Amino acid sequence: MVASQLEARDIVNPKVLEVMRKVPRHRFVDEGLWSQAYLDHPLPIGKGQTISQPYMVALMTQTLGLSGDEKVLEVGTGSGYQAAILAEMAREVYTIERCPELAERARLVLEGLGYENVTIKIGNGTIGWKEHAPYDRIIVTAGAPDVPRSLVEQLKDGGRMVIPIGGTYYQDLVVVEKKGEKTTREAICGCSFVPLVGKHGWKE
Ligand code: SAM
Repeated sequence: MVASQLEARDIVNPKVLEVMRKVPRHRFVDEGLWSQAYLDHPLPIGKGQTISQPYMVALMTQTLGLSGDEKVLEVGTGSGYQAAILAEMAREVYTIERCPELAERARLVLEGLGYENVTIKIGNGTIGWKEHAPYDRIIVTAGAPDVPRSLVEQLKDGGRMVIPIGGTYYQDLVVVEKKGEKTTREAICGCSFVPLVGKHGWKE
């Protein structure tokens, strides 16, 4: 997976490559899908949701530019796989999932693998998680119509957010950087995520 899908593309951060080698992706999907867990595509995780393609996980993680000491907010826990990758590369990870069954399953898998720096909350991630703000980095792993205002507010000055912005099927992967009162946006590639549903996302 790492050689043919990540190194062969544009994943060059050695720590990202190391962590993608280390975290057992198959543990985050049903046993019936283990033989497909390292293939180059997303997989279903139940409730109409998906674990993202390995390349997209690596690209978003690389784009966050983590040094190891960050507090990160993830919106869209899903299987918990991206949270595990972040937990290996940052100090603390807060992650929000709107679907209680997925959140519970992710919690069990992450606990089983021994991650102690990941905290999961069930709720609407489009409003962020005020109690632990501000965050050095924010990653949204579902497609939003626009950048939720609350997430910009909860991003630290000098912080960075990676978020898919666009329609319900296709989006641009956008990097948002906050500098004082100003934010900049840069689209880095096209992508296709399930919709971000909630107050500052899509209607159910
Ligand atoms: N990061 C996940 C992983 O590693 O498996 C993949 C996330 S999946 C592509 C998107 C997830 O976002 C789904 O589990 C979905 O239920 C969740 N989601 C959608 N809208 C949300 C919201 N407003 N707040 C929290 N989670 C949301």
